Amino acid sequence: MTHLLALDVGGTKLAAAVVDDSGTVLGRATRPTVGADGDALFREVGAVLSEAQRAAGTEAVPAVVGVGCGGPMSPGGEVVSPLNIPQWRGFPLRSALAEWSGLPVFVDNDAKALALGEGRWGAAVGERDFLAMVVSTGVGGGIVLDGRLLDGAAANAGHIGHVVVDPLGRPCACGARGCLEAEVSGPSIAAVTGAPAADAPWEVRVRAGRLVGRAVASVANLLDLRLAVVAGSVALGFGEPFFAAAQTEADRSARLAFSQGLRIVPSGFAGHEGPLLGAAAVGLAGLATVG
Ligand SMILES: [Zn+2]
Repeated sequence: MTHLLALDVGGTKLAAAVVDDSGTVLGRATRPTVGADGDALFREVGAVLSEAQRAAGTEAVPAVVGVGCGGPMSPGGEVVSPLNIPQWRGFPLRSALAEWSGLPVFVDNDAKALALGEGRWGAAVGERDFLAMVVSTGVGGGIVLDGRLLDGAAANAGHIGHVVVDPLGRPCACGARGCLEAEVSGPSIAAVTGAPAADAPWEVRVRAGRLVGRAVASVANLLDLRLAVVAGSVALGFGEPFFAAAQTEADRSARLAFSQGLRIVPSGFAGHEGPLLGAAAVGLAGLATVG
């Protein structure tokens, strides 16, 4: 059995786990994403990885490190500059982890990592064509087509957060207007309602679902896929009204013979496990490429 060391680098929290290749978490740890500078933050990364290894016990010896991290990053995570982690601008994450661990290290953005995780152990097992997306502090996604995770020219393929869903909508941090992220991310919803997204009223939940369904339907029509898995605290917190509205909009907008029957389903993982299992899946996929 292969054991993996998984690391999820988020804007507020670092999470680490030792995971086996059946997707079972053997030990985990979390720490806040804090540090006076890039090197100090990396020392926290080392500490959280060590804690997870101690929690898993000495029998579980990892063969590889898999990482999900916020973007942007250069291909393979050689250099990362996560938008919400100002300490890391051009930080050499992959090589730093390789030096720290002495193991092969594979890094991808967190949304693409989630797609790999959902395909291996979650709500998209056995599917060769699907979108996985996160609706949380940001909105991102990853696409598996013909059984392969799409990378794109700068490794950002699947970034559904900047599909325009309302041309008259809110200005987006990217400079465009009415992007999905500008309408349905947690901070966007809080800015509109004046309260945390968790307290959003029913109409707001339904509108968010409708806009997600609209964006997903466009992706389904464009790429010939019929499954979208949605994760993230905002989507999962909004629950049934959100998912029902997303499906209704998908049914209305995915009308081609090949896109009819598009399903929009919640993540197959409990909230805190998805990012770690995504990171673990990055490690497993990477290991497969080097034999
Ligand atoms: Zn945008």
